[in-house]
Amino acid sequence: MASTIPGQMMHVPLLISSILRHAARHHGDTEIVSRRIEGDIHRYTYRDLQQRARQLAKALHALGVEPGERVGTLAWNGYRHLEIYYAVSGAGSVCHTINPRLFPEQIEYIANHADDRYVFFDLTFLPLVERLAPHCPQVRGWVAMTDRAHMPASEVSLLCYEELLDAQDSDYAWPEFDENTASSLCYTSGTTGNPKGVLYSHRSTVLHSYGAALPDSMALSARDCVLPVVPMFHVNAWGLPYAVPLTGAKLVFPGKDLDGKSLYELFETEGVTFSAGVPTVWLGLLDHVKKNGLRFNTLNRTVIGGSACAPAMIRSFEEEYGVQVIHAWGMSEMSPLGTLCKLRVKHANLPREAQRALLEKQGSAIYGVDLKIVGPDGQELPWDGESFGDLLVRGPWVIDTYFKGDKSPLVNGWFPTGDVATIDADGYVHITDRSKDVIKSGGEWISSIDVENVVMAHPAVHEAACIAISHPKWDERPLLVIVKKPGAQVTREEILKFYDGRVAKWWIPDDVVFVDEIPHTATGKMQKLKLREQFKDYVAPASA
Ligand code: AMP
Repeated sequence: MASTIPGQMMHVPLLISSILRHAARHHGDTEIVSRRIEGDIHRYTYRDLQQRARQLAKALHALGVEPGERVGTLAWNGYRHLEIYYAVSGAGSVCHTINPRLFPEQIEYIANHADDRYVFFDLTFLPLVERLAPHCPQVRGWVAMTDRAHMPASEVSLLCYEELLDAQDSDYAWPEFDENTASSLCYTSGTTGNPKGVLYSHRSTVLHSYGAALPDSMALSARDCVLPVVPMFHVNAWGLPYAVPLTGAKLVFPGKDLDGKSLYELFETEGVTFSAGVPTVWLGLLDHVKKNGLRFNTLNRTVIGGSACAPAMIRSFEEEYGVQVIHAWGMSEMSPLGTLCKLRVKHANLPREAQRALLEKQGSAIYGVDLKIVGPDGQELPWDGESFGDLLVRGPWVIDTYFKGDKSPLVNGWFPTGDVATIDADGYVHITDRSKDVIKSGGEWISSIDVENVVMAHPAVHEAACIAISHPKWDERPLLVIVKKPGAQVTREEILKFYDGRVAKWWIPDDVVFVDEIPHTATGKMQKLKLREQFKDYVAPASA
């Protein structure tokens, strides 16, 4: 074979700083609006963002932060957090967003494992910082993200964010380096073992941002006003802090208040057109608008992912409020976007119910993500929408190795997601379960997500989790754990009857238990492992 020849195009590295430079130069007066921890609304522009990110980069240099070193954050979605994103990565260091909802012991583990040099925190997290500080000797300084007037008294010696910036001018040029340099770090909290770090690169982040902005992805544009509800400490708010400036859209940050009322107010006053978050947050928002007879005047679409979005929620958003739901699937190890669900031209004439059935799936892959499903023997399964198996992925924004990990998680170059899925002939993925959550009844698999989705359409049900309980004959059988809507009345029998004709008979749960609350993880997923422990000795009437 003749040898290849090199292309003759510029070697311009894909760096995160180039996104900020672009936003500041081409969308310089576009607004970034934040509800601050101090209680007020803060407004400035992409031009201001770049100026302050440059000041902060100089401040980091003055503090002695070296390229490659990690800088931690414990912070909500807001403009100062965004400045840290760009200043730290832009200077060649690593922005490590820590999920403050984790247990303090996990946070301590993460900050030490990451070897964070400084930690920037919102005032909300002062008690946490005071608890962590004695156990994190490698942290040289804790920076309160506020001004002098709001600096709290503390036994920990604190630095003041605004003072650090005030001491610097913005005369700073973003350095150029290899695009494969590490840019940011997020830890995933698996259900077992210690959290594991995913170390993103500039290249993976910039490519992911292009992918996120595509029309059949999040379809972001300079005409949008985007409010990321998904926290900046959950897989970098699904890449929105990069993808939004890349397109020049307006950004709105909600701060710490993610209840329905606070979010709705911001949506309306700022003219938000696009949002993104996990299903539990939208439950709160929908409750609020329903209870108060409100409408969305500008919001036209929202991405829902992080866990399965119940069809009832998609329907409610669309039919009652005219808001398009884009169901999406991904994970920390994938930056996180993998698939998003939209219809194609060939689906235009399908009956509405058939279109709905498609839109309830997790969607098809963005260019940049390769998918396959395999059976227990590792052999690839057909894309027939029926066969389900372990889902594997590969691509330029998919993990290769965990941070400081000694063993590659890959299987023949593919990353096993731990999810079980079907893929149809058009490539639409339907996630049936986490492999640990699937219910194995008599050698056949029951999708816990599908069982939950059915009952979420019942008017008395607020939230539902389907888990496996052991059964002497069938090995495992489904148990349904339900949180009722406030004031709603419903019986076990009525719930079970609701399944008639909606799923195969043997998928109908053996029993229903009502609880006040379903436990959630720090990223808003139902903690089924905890529920399984709680109900491990449960004997359903059918098998008693
Ligand atoms: P995380 O790394 O915390 O974002 O969690 C990733 C996991 O969340 C995936 O592997 C899935 O199990 C689950 N997940 C994310 N999005 C969805 C979705 N749309 N439907 C079902 N599960 C999802």
